[in-house]
Amino acid sequence: MPPRQKARIRTGDATMSDNIFDDIINRKTLFVNKDLLRDNHTPNELPHRTKEIKALSMNLVEALNGNIPSNMTLYGVTGAGKTAVASYVCNQLETKGSRIGRNVNTIMVNCRQIDTQYRVLAHIGNSLTESYEIDEIPFTGWPVDRVFSELVKRMDSKGGVFIIVLDEIDHLVKKAGDDLLYNLTNLNQSLKNSRSCVIGISNDLKFTEFLDPRVRSRLGQLDVIFNPYDASQLQDILRQRAATSIKQGVLSDGVVQLCSALAAQEHGDARCALELLRVSTEKADEEGKNSVMIKHVRVAQSQIEADQITPVISSLPKQQKLVLAAILINEKYGLKNIETGQVQDIYAQVCLSVGQNALTQRRVRMLISNLDMLGLITARVISRGRMGRTKEINSCIPSNVEPMVIMGESEPEMVGIFDKNYRHQSRL
Ligand code: ADP
Ligand code: MG
Repeated sequence: MPPRQKARIRTGDATMSDNIFDDIINRKTLFVNKDLLRDNHTPNELPHRTKEIKALSMNLVEALNGNIPSNMTLYGVTGAGKTAVASYVCNQLETKGSRIGRNVNTIMVNCRQIDTQYRVLAHIGNSLTESYEIDEIPFTGWPVDRVFSELVKRMDSKGGVFIIVLDEIDHLVKKAGDDLLYNLTNLNQSLKNSRSCVIGISNDLKFTEFLDPRVRSRLGQLDVIFNPYDASQLQDILRQRAATSIKQGVLSDGVVQLCSALAAQEHGDARCALELLRVSTEKADEEGKNSVMIKHVRVAQSQIEADQITPVISSLPKQQKLVLAAILINEKYGLKNIETGQVQDIYAQVCLSVGQNALTQRRVRMLISNLDMLGLITARVISRGRMGRTKEINSCIPSNVEPMVIMGESEPEMVGIFDKNYRHQSRL
C-alpha cells in the first residue's frame, strides 16, 4: 500500500473511533446546573438582604404610582450583593409595572465595562430602540450634547418613568470625572413626557469625595449600605444556591462551612464563596468522586489563588519582572530575608544578560515596594541600630504558581535567565 493512503486510513480510524470528547461528553457530574452558580445568574431569593431590598423597593414603588423616586447610592464591598439586589428589584418592578399597566423602564449599565460618559449615554439611548440599524447612536463621533438630546428625545417618545442604574459608578467617576452623573441627575429638567431617577452603585464608600458638591447632594438623596456577609450568612447563601445547582446530599460535612469561612476571611464576599463551591465541585467531578470533600475545597482554593496571581505577574512591566526575577534567583541560591543590595546585585547581572539597561538604585527600591504592594513579595523594614535600616525581602508567591514560566511566556528574552549562573555577592 502506498504510504500516503496508509496515513489517511490511520487518521480516518482515529477520528471515527477515539474522539477526545467520547469519554467526557456524558461523564457523570455532581452538578444539576452549573450555570446557576455563575455570577450572571440572579437568584429569586437573596437571603440576608431583606432590609436592603426593602429600602430600594419602598423608594422605587413611587414609579408605579407615576411619581419620581429619589436618587440613591448603594455602597458596599465587592460581593456584598449590590448588583444582585439591584437587578432583582428592577426585575420585580418591571414585572409589576407591566401587570398593572404602568410604564416603568429600568436600565442597568455596568460602568466598568462601559466606561465613558459618551458610551453610557449612547448605550442607554440604544437600549430604548428596537430598530438598531436605522437608529443606532454611533459608538463614537457625535458631540456629547447631541447624544444627550437624542437620549432625551427617545425617553420622551417612550414615556413613563426610567430607573437608570449605574453599576460600579466609582470606576467611571475616578477615570472620567462626574459629568455623566451631573447630566443624568439633571435629566428631569429636560424631559417633558417622561421622568427619571438615578441609582449609583459603588464598591468604594468614599466615592462621593470625588464628586462636585452639587452632584453629591443630588445623588445622595438616599444611601443604602451593604455590609459584608459574615460566615454564617454566607453558609445560608451557599446552601440556598447549592439547592438548585448541585445534586442533593453530595456536599460532605464541613464543605459549605469551609467555603464560607474562607470567603468571610477575605471580606465577606459571596462571589468568592460561590466560586469556591463551584470549583470544589468541579475538582470532585474531575476525580470522578460521588461527593465533594474538604480536600477538594483546599485544592480549589489554591487553584483560584493561582489563577488570580498569574495575570498579575504576566502583566508586570518588564523592569518590574526583572526585579522579581532577581529576588527569585537569590532564593534559588537558598537565601532568605534578602537585602536590597543583594537584589540589586543580581538584578544588574540579569539586565546585562537580557540586554536591558539597569535602573538606578532608587528606582529599583521603588519597584521592590510595588511588588510588595501587589502581594508578590514581602519587604519588611528592619533596623540595624547604628548601621541604619534595611529591608528583608522574601517572595510570597504560592508554590503551585511558576513565576519564571509565566514571565518567560510574556517576555521571551527572559526564558532561561533563571538557569544561568550569577556571581553572588554574599559568597565572595
Ligand atoms: P456586588 O455587586 O456587591 O459586588 P454581587 O451582587 O455581584 O455583588 O454578588 C456576588 C455574587 O454573589 C453573585 O453571584 C450574586 O448572585 C451572589 N449573591 C450575593 N448576595 C447573595 C444573596 N444574598 N443570596 C444569594 N446569592 C447572593
Ligand atoms: Mg456588582
